[in-house]
This record gives sequence, structure tokens and C-alpha cells, in this order.
Amino acid sequence: MALAAFSSDPARSRGRRHAEAPAPTRSAFQRDRDRIVHSTAFRRLVYKTQVFLNHEGDLFRTRLTHSLEVAQLGRSIARSLALNEDLVEAIALAHDLGHTPFGHAGQDALNHCMSAPGLDWGGFEHNLQSLRVVDHLEERYPAWDGLNLCFETREGILKHCSPANARKIEAVDPGGVAQRFLDHSQPSLEAQLCNLADEIAYNAHDIDDGVRSGLLTLEQMQAVELFESHRLEVRAEFPDLPDRRLLYETIRRMLSAQVYDVIAATREAIGAANPGSADDARRMGPLVRFSADMRRQSAALKRFLLANLYRHPQVMHTTGQAQRMVRDLFDAYLADPRQMAPKFARRALAAEPDRPHGARAVADYIAGMTDRFATREHERLTGQRLLA
Ligand code: MG
Repeated sequence: MALAAFSSDPARSRGRRHAEAPAPTRSAFQRDRDRIVHSTAFRRLVYKTQVFLNHEGDLFRTRLTHSLEVAQLGRSIARSLALNEDLVEAIALAHDLGHTPFGHAGQDALNHCMSAPGLDWGGFEHNLQSLRVVDHLEERYPAWDGLNLCFETREGILKHCSPANARKIEAVDPGGVAQRFLDHSQPSLEAQLCNLADEIAYNAHDIDDGVRSGLLTLEQMQAVELFESHRLEVRAEFPDLPDRRLLYETIRRMLSAQVYDVIAATREAIGAANPGSADDARRMGPLVRFSADMRRQSAALKRFLLANLYRHPQVMHTTGQAQRMVRDLFDAYLADPRQMAPKFARRALAAEPDRPHGARAVADYIAGMTDRFATREHERLTGQRLLA
């Protein structure tokens, strides 16, 4: 199928940070996807927490399976909208590369460490870290650091960015991927789609994992319209269905309803705005969207998950331990950088007395860790065994 005039065209990419000849058999976006799949950071996603810590069970989502689900949903919507599937896949597979161990708990703790009062260490944002991974931290090429991805892939990876960080990036890379956070334009439609696919994926799989873990019950879920409307429908059609299959079928229908809703609402928005090119679409408001009703239902589900799953006492307990581990690791490495892998130790030691760079080396090292490596390192450095 021919792609739409407003889709991102790999032949008209804004290019890579280091010039490279085109690949003979792959488009620029397909090449980016392949580079991401072969990266070290991508393989580590399998041992990084999404909501449930890796050691809590084998069937829960990890960052890796979450990223694959985002890619699947994103590609399927992209195909219906005649957007570039390869770019959607590349962005989806890379969107969580910068996540710390222990999920959001780890990121909050690391941000806290990097925001010490009176010190200009710049904080920690996982979106910015994903960009750091693909731009600087991966070491796979002889002539440059990072994966040297296209502008369009990097633009999609930098989903959020504070104005302060955007100004810092703009200072070294004017007109680059941070500019839109200062001039308030949009990323490509493919990048907009990945954001929504991310939300659809975690809302659905967190229900599944939440019920599987016993922290959520089907009875509790009756308060959520988006879930309950489909559950009632399935129950009416299959009165004797066991709970597990009832749950799966309800989630499956919930996912389909959201996908069809995004396709219809986005088609309508694109039809009304009528962008003539990908850049035209960037200058318009966000066009990839839910209908107003689905937006409301999805927001209600998010609020439910926040109150009942992400803030469940059992989740909060592991969250507290995870944060303590990240803080302990940060303090230990900052006090003695030689405890880190040689590459990071060298960076931290070379940075003294210029401490911001030393702290950033520590943050990069911790952010790259898997849950289990961080747990082992914490035990080695403190003699205490947490979360085991
Ligand atoms: Mg995600």
C-alpha cells in the first residue's frame, strides 16, 4: 500500500548525526530498527522491571515484552493510517531503552540523587536517557559513539523533555530533536502514534499482570467503565467462561476498541487538518488521538491503576526498597568511582573536580543496570540483601 503524503518518508529523512551511505537493501528506518534490536541496551530490557519486579514472577511484563507489545499495536495502527510502520517499530522498540532498573521507582530515586540541592547535576529523565543511550552510550561502531540513528527515530525517542534540558541540547545541536520543546511544535505522526500505543499497551497489560498477581480482582475492575463494558459483553456471550479466559477476552476486546477508536478519531483529525507533508503535520496540533469519549475512559482507567495497583501497599513496599538500593549505589559509586565498570570509573575520575560529569557517569552506569545486576551490586557494596 502506498504511504500517505503526511507519513515520514525514509528517503527524505533529515539524516544522521554522522553521514553514512544508504544501506543497499533496507530503508533508513528499517536500518535504525535493526540497530536497536542488536544493541546492548535492548537486550537488557528483558531484565528490567515494568511494574512488577523481575524476580516476582516469570509471566509478568518486562520492559522488553512491553516494548514488543507497543511495537505490535503501533504497527497495526500505522498500517491502517498509511503511516510508516518501520519508523513506528524503531521508535517503539527504543522508547524505553533509558529506563533505570526497578521501573519508575528507580528513575525517581536516580532523579532525586541527580537533583541534589545546590549542585547543578541536571536531574535524570528516562526519555532523555533513552536518547543518551542511542546517541552516546552504545559502543558498537569504530568511528562514533552511539547507534547514529536518523533524526526521525531520535525525535520519537525524545518523547518528553524539560525546557531546561531542551535548551542544553539545543546549545550543542541547534535545530535538533529538542527544538520542538521550545517552539511547541509536534513530532512526526509516527512518534505521536507510539506515545498512544505505549499508553494503550500498559493500561491493558497492567490489568492482566495486576489480576495475575492477585493485587487486583475482577470485582474491583467493575468500577472501570472501559473494562466492565467489555466484561459484561463477554459474560453475556459466554456465561460459563472461567475467570482467566474471561479476563483475556475482555482485555482483547478492550484493546481492539481502543485501536479502532484511535484509527477513526485520527482519520477524522487528519481529514480536517489535511496536512500535505510530514513537516506540515509537525506544525499542526497533535493529530493522533482518541475520540473524546475514549480519552475520558482511558483516563479513568489510568486513575484506577494508579490508585489501586501502582500505589498498592505491596508495590509500594518493593518501590521503597528499590529506591533505597539506587540511592545506596549512587552514594557508593560517587564516593569511590573505582567500584564501577572501568569505562564509567574512568569517566568519573577524569571529571574531578568537575563533579557534574562525575555524577552523570554514575547515573549512566546505574541507569544501564538490570534489576538483578543492581541487586547484586548493592549486596556487594553494602553487605545487605534487599528484594531477594
Ligand atoms: Mg513504555
